Amino acid sequence: MQPYLLGIDIGTGSTKAVAANFKGEPITSSQHYYPVKSPQPGYSEQDPELILQAFINCITNIVDKTGQTPYAISLSSAMHSVIAVNENGKPLADMMTWADSRSEAIAQNIRNSAQGPAIYQTSGTPIHAMTPLCKLIWLRENQYDLFTATHKFISIKEYLWYYLFNEFQIDYAIASATGLFDIKNLTWNPEACALAGITTTQLSTPVNTTYKRAGLSKKLATSLKLGTDTYFVIGASDGCCANLGSFVNTADTASLTIGTSGAVRITSSKPVFNYNAMIFNYLLNQNTFVCGGAVNNGGIALNWLLKNFMDKQNPSPADYETLFKQMDAIPAGSNGLIFLPYLYGERAPLWDTKSCGVFFNIKPDHTQAHFLRAGLEGICYALNNVLQTVEESSTLINQVNISGGFITSHVWTQMLADITGKKLVIVQQEDASAIGAVLLAMDALDLDANIKPADDKETCIIPNPQNHKIYSNSFFIFKKLYNNLKDTMHYVHDMDI
Ligand code: ADP
Repeated sequence: MQPYLLGIDIGTGSTKAVAANFKGEPITSSQHYYPVKSPQPGYSEQDPELILQAFINCITNIVDKTGQTPYAISLSSAMHSVIAVNENGKPLADMMTWADSRSEAIAQNIRNSAQGPAIYQTSGTPIHAMTPLCKLIWLRENQYDLFTATHKFISIKEYLWYYLFNEFQIDYAIASATGLFDIKNLTWNPEACALAGITTTQLSTPVNTTYKRAGLSKKLATSLKLGTDTYFVIGASDGCCANLGSFVNTADTASLTIGTSGAVRITSSKPVFNYNAMIFNYLLNQNTFVCGGAVNNGGIALNWLLKNFMDKQNPSPADYETLFKQMDAIPAGSNGLIFLPYLYGERAPLWDTKSCGVFFNIKPDHTQAHFLRAGLEGICYALNNVLQTVEESSTLINQVNISGGFITSHVWTQMLADITGKKLVIVQQEDASAIGAVLLAMDALDLDANIKPADDKETCIIPNPQNHKIYSNSFFIFKKLYNNLKDTMHYVHDMDI
């Protein structure tokens, strides 16, 4: 068996480990799932112990499968999580995930305050309920006993890192997604910490994303089926790792992911600031930024269509196929039917939690298939809105490398190409974030990390010019529609109708 590196992506629904050779090519993988709890509306919590167990299972499972220990293990993880822990790294409560929105009003107040622009400019992070900055304020205002009893506020990766090495350390990528970090000086921002009501000592020590260490205790190494000399590389966030794993290294190429939600990102040597659109600027390493925007309504909106129009609660690949076949029979633009996909409110570029879903311009000849196609087009328009905003705030994007659950669908990917008018490229079928973590490990260990995907492994999707023309008109109406309906959406939301 060839030597391998193990990239582990700690996601919201599961942890996935991908073993890859020194060319970054996947050999085998292992995935373990855990639940998200929502005890009250707006709450999104997880038990960190279950994630730790999945992490351990991934490692031991890969060692069993390959029959040998990895050369090194590197970590990618979801951003914005908060766990309140004591001096021994033990959680005092469940973890708040990125999706926890209970601090929404707090975020709104900061965004509208005089301090808002400076907080955004220093941290590079959108001011939103997802950020630890807003979550800590909520904890201080609503769970004061827990807040004051906490030794440190850490993320899921820091929790796992403490389990491995008994030390509180955080990589620049995860730190840069907290709203508390100074992305220029690579230190905690005392003003943001003061706003949260904590001292910088209540946060972990920031280190670069290629930071590595070995020296697991003998007992721990044995239980993980590793050697005490196995290197661990701290790695980056899932978004930053996804850019690396999708081979998005320059500002004129973007990565676009559609899974449950969706995101567009470029890789840049400098941050891209836009306060209205709140473009994020997360650190891939000390001098590289991953900039872009995330949307709420990706595959989750398609699954709403499947459930409510086709009665498919847990769609199988065959259900998706039936759906796409129905859509394929409808012309581009769905004969004028337009869908605003804001079922779960929207993040970039609207940052409007009060927005809602809308079907517009319904005519007698529209069938169920029109609604399905318009639904999918609406999801793509929302991502195009982010893509264009990023482009307008930075530089022209020539190519979009795509990833996520949607890449298996020809209809969906062609529709996205036709709407954006960009060449789309599928470079990575495996979990791009886990592969990105592997590439960070190669960099950290001075292996040749300048890997390029083989041309024959790439799939290109070229936009159809006629469809792009139709979609450009519809996209104009799509944007106009939201602007025209915004006040009414807010009125309806506030009236709780
Ligand atoms: P995440 O990691 O965010 O949970 P994934 O990247 O696995 O999500 O993507 C899940 C989404 O991919 C689903 O919500 C669905 O919209 C889409 N999807 C899943 N299976 C298929 C399929 N066979 N064809 C097209 N789209 C699919």
